[in-house]
Parts: sequence; structure tokens; C-alpha cells
Amino acid sequence: MGVPAASPPGGGPLRTCVGCRVRGPAESLLRVVARDGATVPDPHRRLPGRGAHLHPDPACLALAQRRRALPRALRAETPLDLDPLRAWIGAAGARQAAPRS
Ligand SMILES: [Zn+2]
Repeated sequence: MGVPAASPPGGGPLRTCVGCRVRGPAESLLRVVARDGATVPDPHRRLPGRGAHLHPDPACLALAQRRRALPRALRAETPLDLDPLRAWIGAAGARQAAPRS
């Protein structure tokens, strides 16, 4: 009658993407924090404070932007500047995408 382990089998913590609302392993999602009215990508999950999680995908960022999910998730009182996050995701996508010509 032991208490079952809290962690799901074969995985670490699960997080929900604030864009598409799909749950996935925390390491597959980008952590985002708010600082000085702007979103700051925190890929190493080291920044203090409340974090939101998002797939590093422009489509998820667009969804999150449309429903203002990031300011809500981060408890921001003012609109957040999404440019730093957009730039990071754009660069990540450029790194991953196979060059097509
Ligand atoms: Zn997503």
C-alpha cells in the first residue's frame, strides 16, 4: 500500500504549451519568463520567477499571442514584448530546418 511514485513512467515533468495547449515533456518546451515588460527565452531554465512553457515553434507563438496566453501565464500586468521570444524561435527554427532551395 505504498504511495505510487509521482513521476509518470519514462519521463520527467510534463508541461503544457501556452500556444497549442498540448502537454509534453518539459525538455521539449521552451521556458519563457517575463522581465522588464518583455518575454525572455530561458532554454536552460535558470532564470528566477514564474515561467511559461511554449513549443519553440512560430505557430505556437502565434497562437499564444492571439489568446494573450503569455501575459496571463506570467501574471504580467502590462502587454509583453514578444520580439525577443520571436527572434529566439526564429533562430531555432533556422537552425533546425533543412536548407531548401
Ligand atoms: Zn505548442
